Amino acid sequence: MQASLILQKEHFDEMVRIVSAQSPLEACGLLVGRAGRVESVLPVTNAEQSPARFRMDPIEQLRAFERIESHGLELVGIFHSHPAGPGTVSPTDIAEAAYAVVHIILSQSDEEWQARGFWIEAGQAVEIPLRVE
Ligand SMILES: [Zn+2]
Repeated sequence: MQASLILQKEHFDEMVRIVSAQSPLEACGLLVGRAGRVESVLPVTNAEQSPARFRMDPIEQLRAFERIESHGLELVGIFHSHPAGPGTVSPTDIAEAAYAVVHIILSQSDEEWQARGFWIEAGQAVEIPLRVE
């Protein structure tokens, strides 16, 4: 399990821009970087186009993975939004988590987006701190 995820304020702002543009549909994307530190945010289309579910468009996801690898970077996180809440991972998110990376949920409270990070392993989700620098 990773102890924390480090990101810059601009990465947080970019995730908020992506998810608020898609709201009330769920939006999703990848966080790319190295050693638990985010270097860039890659939006990926939610193939479900749903307010309650997300599934990354498989072609976009594949292209993103190829790009990450060709730059010698790593997938360090996956984010998606819960425009209508809650601010935590859902049982479906836990069941469908396929990568050992930090899962970030962006949710809205009083018109403000907030982000929380979770590590999902063996059917359990543990909150881990997001350190915004
Ligand atoms: Zn979810």
